[in-house]
Amino acid sequence: MQGQGQSQVEGNGDTVVRFGGDAKTERPLGRSIKRGMLCRCPNCGEGRLFRAFLKPVDTCAVCGEEIFHQRADDLPAYLVIVVVGHVLMTGYMLTDMVLRVSPWVHLAIWVPLAVLAALVTIQPIKGGVIGLQWAYRMHGFSGHEDDAIEPIAKPRQNEPTA
Ligand SMILES: [Zn+2]
Repeated sequence: MQGQGQSQVEGNGDTVVRFGGDAKTERPLGRSIKRGMLCRCPNCGEGRLFRAFLKPVDTCAVCGEEIFHQRADDLPAYLVIVVVGHVLMTGYMLTDMVLRVSPWVHLAIWVPLAVLAALVTIQPIKGGVIGLQWAYRMHGFSGHEDDAIEPIAKPRQNEPTA
């Protein structure tokens, strides 16, 4: 029995029955993030995700997947601060327990290291964010643009106001 809005997908010998729409291609979250962090297209894993430092391609050169829907915005920067901040702060505190050096030496060590670590990690993290948005079909990745938000207090027509 196969009715409207119901599809069957064969996989691993099992029959998967999906309700509520046509069969969309699978977008595993972990694989998509991993491919993004390797700076590869989350769809095919082959094409490059960035055309320049932190500049994503518009479309994948290999599979043609539209990448320009991404809206990573400043989430990658927040994630870099969380990750690099925790790692370097731990390193600073452990070093300070072992070595008694002046604050200037710590500054000379940790500030350049923080800048370097941020520059090295931000592009893979941005790729991972794009992979996550693609996997969850956020923004235009679903095949249609985000719906415009309806005005809340839209006055109805043909309705007495008093
Ligand atoms: Zn691709």
